[in-house]
Amino acid sequence: MSKMRQFIIEIRPKVEGQGVLDQFGVKNGHTPEADWKAFFYKKLDQLRASGLPIEELEKVTKFEVSMRDNRAIVEIFDKDFDGDDKAVKLKLREFFFDTMKVPRENVSVTVKEPKVCASCDGPVDEDNGTSTPDGKPLCYPCYESDTSEPAATVVYSDEDEYPHTIGDYHNDTEGDFELAYHHTDAWRGHYSVTPSKDWAELHSDAILSMSEDERELKRFDELLQEALKDLGIRYARVFTRTSNLFCSGYDFFVEKKKLKKAEGIASHLKSVLRDPVRFTTTALTGKDPKDITNTDRLFAAMASRIMKNQG
Ligand SMILES: [Zn+2]
Repeated sequence: MSKMRQFIIEIRPKVEGQGVLDQFGVKNGHTPEADWKAFFYKKLDQLRASGLPIEELEKVTKFEVSMRDNRAIVEIFDKDFDGDDKAVKLKLREFFFDTMKVPRENVSVTVKEPKVCASCDGPVDEDNGTSTPDGKPLCYPCYESDTSEPAATVVYSDEDEYPHTIGDYHNDTEGDFELAYHHTDAWRGHYSVTPSKDWAELHSDAILSMSEDERELKRFDELLQEALKDLGIRYARVFTRTSNLFCSGYDFFVEKKKLKKAEGIASHLKSVLRDPVRFTTTALTGKDPKDITNTDRLFAAMASRIMKNQG
């Protein structure tokens, strides 16, 4: 029966004297320390590229090498290990003793049964991980990329200097907003935002980078914010990633009890600044109105008709 295993190999170089180095034909150059380091790096690089010649470890999903305090740490993670722990520990010790040219007692191997990260399927150490909101293990590198490149950024009107974020594995809006990803096809997709019962959607749009449409949307955004602030209406803007680098989602929410009032203002601004025909044409052709030809217009009209029939 297969299980998850993490083998951690610690290799301490023997820096005093040249005896062992000589025995294995490692040439003396500068200082013993510098020689060891250079030798270690070279060997470990080769191993990283070639993998380990140990048959029980042929399906290794993670192989990492690091240097800490002049020691080399090799971490091997196998999600589907079906060997014998003890036998593999011995093989690893022999292999590294021979490959790294150190005395046997300078190689130690420990074996762990780690938790598996919900995002990358890698190991999560007891003291080096966190968990998802629903309690699954999550490693720190995954947690960090989820927060530093979030799927959504939420900006509340009363704390616009401190944006909140939502990722695949975290959500710091305290339940105000939830995300769902929608695939358009295998490669493309976008997020939709669902508010809690306290919030209502006032306007949903998309930012088309570097276009005239983007400038109009910015104007719409500024005027709408100004008007709502004057009326003391709390709002939140949610910016979401899409699979298109030049396009991001823009969703404007207001506190539900003030929706009617806010709608009056928004519909007036929309009629002036959010022209759906121009938006569709820019979205489909990537051009600003002044550069759009009759062919583009025809193409956009046809494309939107096709999309309507599909939807
Ligand atoms: Zn991970």
